Amino acid sequence: MDEHTLKAQLLGTMKPRPVTGAFQPNREELFQSLEGPDSIVRGFCQGCGMLFEITTEGKQIFQEDFSVRIPDNPGEHYVHFSRCLLCDTEYRDPEVRSIPR
Ligand SMILES: [Zn+2]
Repeated sequence: MDEHTLKAQLLGTMKPRPVTGAFQPNREELFQSLEGPDSIVRGFCQGCGMLFEITTEGKQIFQEDFSVRIPDNPGEHYVHFSRCLLCDTEYRDPEVRSIPR
C-alpha cells in the first residue's frame, strides 16, 4: 500500500469537490460534536471546502509530516489546510486556528 492510499484510509476521503481555494469554514459546523469514536479535532480545507474529522492516528501523522502541534484537547480550535487529499496530492499547510466567534 502506498503512502497516499494509507493516508486516505486513515484520514478519510469523500467525493471530489470543485476547488476554488477560497472556501471559508462554517462556524456552526465547526462547533458540532465530533462523530467518530477516535476523532479528536476537525479539519477544514480552504481549497475545496471539505470539513472532516482528524483521528488520534491522523493527528500523529500530521505532526510527524509537518511541524504542526495539534493540542490533545483542541476545544474551540480546528486544523486549517490550504489543500487536502481531495483537491491535491497531499494535505498542505496545516495550521491550528481558533473557531471564529
Ligand atoms: Zn481540499
